[in-house]
Amino acid sequence: MNLVGSITLKGIAASPGIAIGRAYLLDRRRVAPPKRHITPHEVEAEVARFDEAVRESERQLREVKLKLGAAGTEHIQILEAHELMLHDPMLVDGARQMVRDQLINAEWALKKTTKSVRELFSHIQDEYFRERRADVDYVADRVLRNLMGTSQTAVTEIGPGSVLIAHDLSPSDTALLQQTPVLGLALDVGGMTSHTAIVARNHKLPAVIGLEHVSDVIGSGDIVIVDGSAGLVLVNPALEDLQRYQQQALRYSVGRAQLDAHAREPATTLDGVQVRVAGNIELHDETGLVLDSGAEGIGLYRTEFLYMNRDALPDEDEQYRHYREVVERCGPLGATLRTLDIGGDKLVSHVKLPKEANPAMGLRALRLCLRESGLFRPQLRALLRASVHGELRIMVPFVSGLAEVRAVKRLLAECHAELLAEGVALPRLPALGIMVELPSAAAIADILAREVDFFAIGTNDLIQYALAIDRANEHVGYLYHPLHPALLRMLQFILRSGAEAGIRVSMCGEMAGDPFYTAILLGLGLREFSMNAVSVPVVKQVIRSLDVSACEALLAEAMTLPDASDIEHLVSERLGPMLGTRISREVFDPMSHRP
Ligand code: PEP
Ligand code: MG
Repeated sequence: MNLVGSITLKGIAASPGIAIGRAYLLDRRRVAPPKRHITPHEVEAEVARFDEAVRESERQLREVKLKLGAAGTEHIQILEAHELMLHDPMLVDGARQMVRDQLINAEWALKKTTKSVRELFSHIQDEYFRERRADVDYVADRVLRNLMGTSQTAVTEIGPGSVLIAHDLSPSDTALLQQTPVLGLALDVGGMTSHTAIVARNHKLPAVIGLEHVSDVIGSGDIVIVDGSAGLVLVNPALEDLQRYQQQALRYSVGRAQLDAHAREPATTLDGVQVRVAGNIELHDETGLVLDSGAEGIGLYRTEFLYMNRDALPDEDEQYRHYREVVERCGPLGATLRTLDIGGDKLVSHVKLPKEANPAMGLRALRLCLRESGLFRPQLRALLRASVHGELRIMVPFVSGLAEVRAVKRLLAECHAELLAEGVALPRLPALGIMVELPSAAAIADILAREVDFFAIGTNDLIQYALAIDRANEHVGYLYHPLHPALLRMLQFILRSGAEAGIRVSMCGEMAGDPFYTAILLGLGLREFSMNAVSVPVVKQVIRSLDVSACEALLAEAMTLPDASDIEHLVSERLGPMLGTRISREVFDPMSHRP
C-alpha cells in the first residue's frame, strides 16, 4: 500500500459516474533486467532458458485469446500480431545470437535487442511503426517477466470491487476490460476520443483519464474515488469526503437506474414532438450495447476503426460481414455507416499517407478515398452488398464541395453496376448522405441538400474548423464553445436548408450527446440525434422533459446575444426551471454542468 495522504487529482472526465473502491495498480512499467556476463559453457543453458520464456509467453497469449472468446475479432488480431512477434527473427533470433556472441545473460540480450528494434522503427518516422513499437515493448516485457519469474499482471486477475489504475492500457487490456468486475478507471494518459475512453463510455464505466501521474501517486490497496462526471480522482479521501461521495454515488445510481428503466421508451417532448435518438459506434460488436441503452438504430458507425490495430487492410468480404451484422441487428431502425475517415489524427497503419505539415487540412478522409480508389471501391462494394440485408445508409465524411459528392455518386453507381453484372441482386441503391463538418459545406448546405438524401452534422470537426481550434490541443481548449453565435448561425442554416429540401438532418458530434445543449438543438429544429451509449438515456429523458415551443423561445433569445458565454449563462439559468423535477439533478444538473 502506498501511504499517501488525502489528495485530489484533476483529469479529463472521460466517462460519467462515481466509482469507490480499492486501487488495483496495473503495472505496465518496464522491469529492470539483471545484467551479467556468462561463460561459454553457460551459453546453451541460457538460450534454452530464453526459449522456455518465449514458449511460456506464447502459452499466456493463447490463454488470453481463449478468455477473450467472442469479444471481438479486432482484439484477437492484436493478440495474434503479438504471437507473431514472438517469432520475429529480429527480436528472438537477435536475442539468442547476442547471448552467444556477446556472452551475456538472456534478460540483458533481450533488452539490447528490443532497444535496437525500437530504434529501427523510430527512424522510419511512420505512425504505423510507432504503433508497432508499443507492440514490441509489450511482447518483450512479457518475455522478460517470464525470464525473471515476475509474471505480467493480467487485467483478468483483477478482483471485484477494484478501481483500475494504470499509466496506459494496451489494446488487449482494453478488450479484456469488458470482462472484469472493475468499478472504474483512472489513467495517466488518453484523450476524449481514445479507444479506452470510448470503451469506458460504452460500458458505463466511470473513468478519468489524462491524469499524468496517477500511476505514480496511487498504490494497490489505496482507497480511491473516481468521479467520472467531474474528472476528479480522490486518493485516500477524508472520512467526510468518502461519506459525501458514497451518498452521491447512491443518488447517481438511483437516478441512472430510473433513466435506464425508461431508456427504450420513445423520446417525445411534452408537446408531442417525436425525436429520434440513435447511437454512435466504433466497432461492429458495440451495436448490441448501444441498442440496449435505448438507441433507436445507429446514427454513426465510424468504420475506420475496423482498419486500425491490425497488420493488413480488411478485404471486401470481411467488411461486408461486419456491415451486414450491424445492419441486421438494427432491423427497421436502420444504420448509417460512414465511409473511411482516416488521416489527420486518425492513423491507420497500413495506409501510406504522405508526411504533411498540416495533416488536419491534408489528404484525408474522402479526399484520400477519391484519390485511392483501390481503398474506396472495396468499401463501397461491401456497403452495397450489406445494404441488401436491411436499412443501410451510406454517409461520406469531410465533404468540402459539390464536386466531391458527385464523384462519390459516380463511383457508387459504377460499383453498383459492377455488382449487378457479377449477378449480385441489388434491388435499390441505399440512401446516400454527407457529414456537414466543414464550414464550406455548412455555407452551401442549401446547394448540397439538393444533391443528397440526408445530412449528419459533425460538430467535432465543424467547431474545430469554424473556430480554428485544434481538437486535441489543450492550449486552445478554452475556445471550444458549441454555443458560439457563429456556430449557432451555421447550425440554423444547415437545418433550414435540410428542411427546405425535405431531407433528414441529424447530428452525431459530441454536442448531440451533451444534455446541456439539447434544448437549444430542439429549438433549432433538430429532430435526430446520435451519441454514445451512456448519453442516450439522459438525453432521451431531457427531451421528454422539454416543450419545443419553450426551446424555440430560448433559442430566439440566445440568437440575440453577442457572445458564447452570454448564451451559456442563459442556458444554465433557464434549463433548470424548464426541466423541473423530471430528471434527477444527480445525473444532470444544468447549473454545475455548464461548460
Ligand atoms: C464530428 O466531426 O463531429 C464527427 C462526428 O466525426 P469524428 O468525431 O469521427 O471526426
Ligand atoms: Mg469528423
